[in-house]
Amino acid sequence: EMTTTDMATLSREVAKFAEGKKLEIEALQLRDTYRKEFMGNISHELKTPLFTVQGYIETLLDGAMKDKKVRKKYLARAGKGVDRLIYIVKDLDMITKLETGELSLNKEEFDIVELIQNVFDLLEMKAAKKNITLSLDKHYPPTMVFADRDRIQQVLTNLIVNSIKYGKNDGATEISIEDLSKNKIIVRVNDNGEGIEKKHIGRLFERFYRVDKSGSRKEGGSGLGLSIVKHLLEAHNERIYVESTFGVGSEFSFTLKKAKKTAPVKSKTGVLQ
Ligand code: ADP
Repeated sequence: EMTTTDMATLSREVAKFAEGKKLEIEALQLRDTYRKEFMGNISHELKTPLFTVQGYIETLLDGAMKDKKVRKKYLARAGKGVDRLIYIVKDLDMITKLETGELSLNKEEFDIVELIQNVFDLLEMKAAKKNITLSLDKHYPPTMVFADRDRIQQVLTNLIVNSIKYGKNDGATEISIEDLSKNKIIVRVNDNGEGIEKKHIGRLFERFYRVDKSGSRKEGGSGLGLSIVKHLLEAHNERIYVESTFGVGSEFSFTLKKAKKTAPVKSKTGVLQ
């Protein structure tokens, strides 16, 4: 037979169970809303370049094909639209992998200074179009870190591409590296571009979030760049920070784990290298 205390305990248990279920349902509903929003964003992102491509093809079929020069120009533009579609789909693929935890990291020791130089080389042409210089703030010796080199290359690429996209003509992107603690360094990417208003800072890393919707679309982003950067660093247990002054410039910085200290190698001549 149940005592009053038993009854009280039971009713508390039932209430707890019901509350648990309610929370579960709420979480599922939230996830569903999130999923629907994501799908909506994707189709919105894809529509613009798709309509562009469709537009050029239609114009060509409507007679623009006859003129060799016009034909070439329109085909090139349609091709650009396709490039953009591929770029967006690649970003979507990456973000999906990151959010479902499918992406595995391949960590190794590598020189971050060398990687930065490589990324500078790859983006030099893009920067030159706006006469923006890409540089390190001083000469650094090789600085070994422990991370997934390809993923960190992507992080650097996204941040530097942004510094160019949102940079002013004749501007400068400068990177500095600093010791943060015994086993961490911090890499800072500075630009003297348009800067970001305070009210946007908290939302920058959300997927598809853009400060100026029309402006950045013209620049050809997907709105996923920073969200990918954040995910990639979080997968490494590293952090990203942003500081910005509207009209003056921005600084995006992130931490990296130092490689285990390797003892200086003695060369044959006995000189420490
Ligand atoms: P997008 O594809 O639009 O560049 P991101 O996720 O890379 O997407 O960036 C989100 C938004 O943050 C951009 O649309 C832009 O408004 C702002 N932003 C990013 N980097 C910078 C920067 N270096 N300077 C100014 N604004 C920036």
